[in-house]
Amino acid sequence: FVVARNVQKSYGDRQVLAGIDLTVNRGECVVILGPSGSGKSTFLRMINHLEGLDWGEIRVDGQTVGYDYAGGRPKAVAGLAGAKARARIGMVFQSFNLFGHLTALENVVEAPVRVHGTSPADAEKLGQELLASVGLGNHTAHLPHRLSGGQQQRVAIARALAIKPRLMLFDEPTSALDPELVGEVLTVMRRLAAAGMTMVVVTHEIRFARDVADRVIFMDEGNIVEQGPPEQVIDAPQHERTRRFLRMVG
Ligand code: ATP
Ligand code: MG
Repeated sequence: FVVARNVQKSYGDRQVLAGIDLTVNRGECVVILGPSGSGKSTFLRMINHLEGLDWGEIRVDGQTVGYDYAGGRPKAVAGLAGAKARARIGMVFQSFNLFGHLTALENVVEAPVRVHGTSPADAEKLGQELLASVGLGNHTAHLPHRLSGGQQQRVAIARALAIKPRLMLFDEPTSALDPELVGEVLTVMRRLAAAGMTMVVVTHEIRFARDVADRVIFMDEGNIVEQGPPEQVIDAPQHERTRRFLRMVG
C-alpha cells in the first residue's frame, strides 16, 4: 500500500536517508524504532510530502503524493494536485498541533469542512462520533488548554481520522506525555490497528511495538538496519546496533 524505493535525502552535505526501501501492506501496522537523528521523522514526513525527496519514490495506493517526476528527479507538484493526494493521509505529531483558539469539536471538523467540502452539519455529526470514540464525548466544547496532554492527543487523532484517511502516520505520539497519560493514547491506537487501519508509527514504546506491530523496522543513520515481526526484531535482534538500542530504551 505504501511503497518506498531508494528514498534519499540530504540536508546540505549531511545524508539523512541513505536509500530506504520499504513496503507497507494494506491493513498493516508498522512500527519504526531507532535512535535520535536516524531519519525516522524525515522518512515519515516524506510519505505525505511534508518533506521533499532528493531521489527515489514513494507511492501510496499506487500514487505519488505531492510530487511528480520531471527529468527523472522527484519534483514537488504545486497547489491543489499535491494537496489532494495528501488529503487522505492522517498524521499525528508529538506536539499535538491543535488549533488553540478552536474547541475540540472545531478542531476535528475543520479539515472535513474546509478541505473536503463536507457540510458543517455532517462534519459536526462525524466529529461528535469520533470524539466519543476516543473517549472525549463530554469534552467536545473544550479548548485545548483545558484538556490534559493525553486528551489533546486523542483530539489530534480524532482530527486526523475526520478526513477518513486510508493511511495514518504517527510520529512519537506519546513522547510529550506524562507517563500516566501514555496508556490512554496507545489504547486508541491499538483499537485503530485492530480495526484494520494501515499505520506507520514511530515510537519508543517497545511494549506497544511488541503487542501491536505486524512488523518492526529498526533504523540507524538513514538506513533500515533490520526488519521483521516484533518477536524477531525486539526479542531476537540480529544486529549489534539494534541490541544496543534496545538495551538503552528497554
Ligand atoms: P528523533 O528520534 O530525535 O526524532 P529522527 O530519527 O526522527 O530523530 P530526523 O528528525 O529525521 O531524526 O532527523 C535526521 C537528521 O536530519 C538529524 O541529524 C537532523 O538534525 C537532520 N534534520 C532534520 N530536519 C532537518 C532540517 N530541516 N534541516 C537540517 N537538518 C535536518
Ligand atoms: Mg523524530
